[in-house]
Amino acid sequence: MALKAIKSTLKEAKGKQLKVADPTSWRSDKSSTQRGYGYKWQQARAGHLRSHPLCAYCQREGRVTEATVVDHSIPHRGDMAIFWDKAGWVSLCTNCHSSVKQREEKADLSGI
Ligand SMILES: [Zn+2]
Repeated sequence: MALKAIKSTLKEAKGKQLKVADPTSWRSDKSSTQRGYGYKWQQARAGHLRSHPLCAYCQREGRVTEATVVDHSIPHRGDMAIFWDKAGWVSLCTNCHSSVKQREEKADLSGI
């Protein structure tokens, strides 16, 4: 009986942890977001650009453009698991990056 109680407590704790990861809560925790873009990110970004030196969007349209930005294809919204998931990293040139950002900002506005 006691074990059962512990198990249900664990379940509750897991549910609470999920609530902490609420995507709307990250905006208030600015410092951790800024840490995400710190030294470690600069290193990871440089490494990604070395192995993916061309803009992915330009490449898709048959253009060869040097990428200078690593963008997250999935908006991470402060979620570090998504932030550091290399599968979602895309090398972009500044032109494509700013057009992607404009689209995302528009999507943000309609989402609110
Ligand atoms: Zn481009």
